Amino acid sequence: MKTIPYGRQTIDEEDIQAVVDVLRSDRLTQGPAVEAFEEALAAYCGARYAVACASGTAALHLAYQAAGLGPGDLVMTSPNTFAATGNAALFLGAKPLFADIDPATSNLSPSEIEKTISALQAERGHLKAIVPVHYAGTPCDMESIAKIAERHRLLVIEDGCHALGASYADKKIGGLSDMTVFSFHPVKTITTGEGGAIVTNREDYYQRLKRLRSHGIERTDFLEPSHGAWYHEIQELGYNYRMTDLQAALGRSQLKKVDRFVARRREIAALYHTAFNGNPYFDLPVEAAGSVSSYHLYPIRLKDSFKTQKKEIFRRLREQGLGIQVHYLPVYWHPVYRKMGYRKGLCPAAENFYQREISLPIFPAMTQQEVTYVIETVDRVFRDRA
Ligand SMILES: *Cc1c(COP(=O)(O)O)cnc(C)c1O
Repeated sequence: MKTIPYGRQTIDEEDIQAVVDVLRSDRLTQGPAVEAFEEALAAYCGARYAVACASGTAALHLAYQAAGLGPGDLVMTSPNTFAATGNAALFLGAKPLFADIDPATSNLSPSEIEKTISALQAERGHLKAIVPVHYAGTPCDMESIAKIAERHRLLVIEDGCHALGASYADKKIGGLSDMTVFSFHPVKTITTGEGGAIVTNREDYYQRLKRLRSHGIERTDFLEPSHGAWYHEIQELGYNYRMTDLQAALGRSQLKKVDRFVARRREIAALYHTAFNGNPYFDLPVEAAGSVSSYHLYPIRLKDSFKTQKKEIFRRLREQGLGIQVHYLPVYWHPVYRKMGYRKGLCPAAENFYQREISLPIFPAMTQQEVTYVIETVDRVFRDRA
C-alpha cells in the first residue's frame, strides 16, 4: 500500500495546460502571467495589491525588509511555526522574540504577547512588528492582536502560509493587516511548485516589495540624471526573488479552485472530528469561534498517558502507511537559535504542544477510502498501546 502523505498537491489537466501554454509563449520568467496571478490573488484576498515571489520564505524576507526591519530590531512571533518565520528576521540582522501560544488554539496568545512586551526593558523601542502565524489554517485572534499592535505602535505582518482560503470575522485572510505572506509549496492550499506572495493594501509597501524582488532596480525615480532609455539604477540592495510565468500560470489556475480545496479539507476534518470525538487517546484541533479554518493540517494532541509513547506511536503509524508528520519543533530549539542564546523553557505551552502533536493526512485529493483507512489505523494503533 502506498503511503498517504500528510499533505500533497492536487493538479488537474487545466493546471497542466496552463503551464504548457506559457512554455509555448515568449515569456518564461516574470511576465504577464505573474501580473495576472497577482491581480487574481489580491482580489481573492480582498486586498489592493499582491506581489508574487520565489517562495514563502522569500516573501517573509521581502515583507520584513519592506517594513524597514534591520539590525537590532525585534519581531514578535510564535515558536509554533516553520522556522522560516523567524529565520527571515535573522537574514536582516533582526531578532525574533517568541511569545507563547494559547494551548486552546496553538496560536500566539494575546496575553502572552502583552506579557512578553512588558518584560522588555531597554529593547522595548526595538520591537517593530508582530507576526501572527495562523497555525494549521486556524486564524489567530486578530482583533486582540490589532489592539496590542496599535497600543504599542507595531506593524502586523501575518504569516498566512497555512491560511490561504481561511477567514476571520467574515473576511478572507490577507486583507486584514499591513502585509500578509503566503506560500505555494505543494503541501499548502494551492501550489506553484515553489512560490510565495505578499498581499497588502499599502501602495508604498507594494512599490518597495516589487523593487526588492528584482535586485532593487529602479526604472523611474532616478537619483542621477538618466543616461538614456536603457538607464536604470540600483538604489538599495535587492534580490532575485522573482516568480516565473510558468509558476504563476499554475498558481492562477489553482486559485480558481481554492474554495473547493478548502471545502474538501473541511469535509475531511469533519469526518475526523466525528470519528475521533470523545476518544481517550488524543485531543482534536479546535476552530476558534468566528473564524473558518483552511485546515492546512489536522493536528492531534496526545493525552498525558500517551505523550511518553509518541515516538513509538509515530513509528507504528508510519509503518502502517500513514505519512504523518510533526508540526513544529519550537523554532528556538533549533541549534542555530540555541547558539544565539535562546534557551529551552522559554515557551512552555509550545514545548508541551510539540511533545504531543502529530499531523494526520489531510489534502483535497484524499479519497473516502483513504480517510477511512486513516481513521481505522489510528484507532487500532492507539488501542494496541492503551
Ligand atoms: C511553508 C511555510 C513557510 C515557508 O514557505 P516556503 O514556500 O516553503 O518557503 C513559512 N511559514 C510557514 C508557517 C509555512 O508553513
